[in-house]
Amino acid sequence: MKRILITGGAGFIGSHLCERLLNDGHDVMCLDNFFTGSKDNIRHLIAHDHFELVRHDITKEYFAEVDQIYNLACPASPPHYQYNPIKTIKTSVIGMINMLGLAKRCKATILQASTSEVYGDPQVHPQIESYWGNVNPIGIRSCYDEGKRCAETLVMDYHRQNNVDTRIVRIFNTYGPNMDLYDGRVVSNCIVQALKGENITVYGDGLQTRSFCYVDDLVDGLVKMMENKQGFIGPVNLGNPSERTILNLAELIIKLTNSKSKISFLPLPQDDPTQRKPNIELAKKELDWTPKIEIEDGLMKTIEYFDKKLRGLI
Ligand code: NAD
Ligand code: UDP
Repeated sequence: MKRILITGGAGFIGSHLCERLLNDGHDVMCLDNFFTGSKDNIRHLIAHDHFELVRHDITKEYFAEVDQIYNLACPASPPHYQYNPIKTIKTSVIGMINMLGLAKRCKATILQASTSEVYGDPQVHPQIESYWGNVNPIGIRSCYDEGKRCAETLVMDYHRQNNVDTRIVRIFNTYGPNMDLYDGRVVSNCIVQALKGENITVYGDGLQTRSFCYVDDLVDGLVKMMENKQGFIGPVNLGNPSERTILNLAELIIKLTNSKSKISFLPLPQDDPTQRKPNIELAKKELDWTPKIEIEDGLMKTIEYFDKKLRGLI
């Protein structure tokens, strides 16, 4: 049994990771400031003997004795991270320094949840880890993109300078139950709109692409990366390489929900990446990891969850 700290543990991905690590028999400390996370996501875990919930903000120092740290704390949807951009970058940079300091003192392994956004609007397609990216440093997405890029730099410098045992994973668009219904991301927006019979909002012409990974597959990859003992520290892409246009995703959600909703086109937000698809050869080779869940199956599970949430059943 290991003592594991999950920052951002009450968020979408963090809550699934808490559950997975408890099921694996570990002692789980879930730390969150509840900016975008919710107690609802982890309520069923609170009575568990090996689960501990801590309200804390990682921009402030935190002391604990732990063996592993998964650093997931950071708002992830564009409306959420753009709500208070200065706070977003503080979370990525100051929060990262605090968590790396904690890892250094405890001799803990630390895994940083980085993002495909470090590639910006990529000119190399699909994105491979050796690509340095095409990021606007002064745009409305920069607080997130550049914050995460700086966090990766900090991870590598603590690794080289202080021998901290580190891991970097670059997560591509992930979806599933426990997503915030109103976080403004495309999957949550489309499902809520389809279930309510409202117009489905597609930004731009909808021909921009993303590749969507179901959360269980992603969590499996996170744990494999943390447990990897071969000296492989990343960065490694984790995502589902099945690429589709946003328009295609919206049509699929209309079909799966049997909705009468129509698509309405809205302006494309500034710096919205035109294409995104992970090259996952490195994850396959080093971690023996590939996503298994087909988009239709993953979306059906997500739709079921959203439907219950909207009807107040959970
Ligand atoms: P989320 O917003 O649901 O979860 C983030 C959690 O971090 C929330 O519970 C929030 O309250 C908490 N948090 C935010 N700032 C904090 C702070 N200063 N101190 C303590 N807690 C704080 O988002 P998510 O989708 O679960 O994303 C989790 C991580 O994965 C993030 O770091 C995100 O950047 C990364 N990621 C997610 C995706 C995705 O598609 N979901 C893609 C790439 C990267
Ligand atoms: N998007 C959309 N309609 C929405 C929300 C998002 O067309 O209601 C688009 C958005 O412009 C982007 C894509 O869907 O091109 C994915 O957006 P999301 O916010 O989910 O994630 P990210 O842009 O960070 O990949």
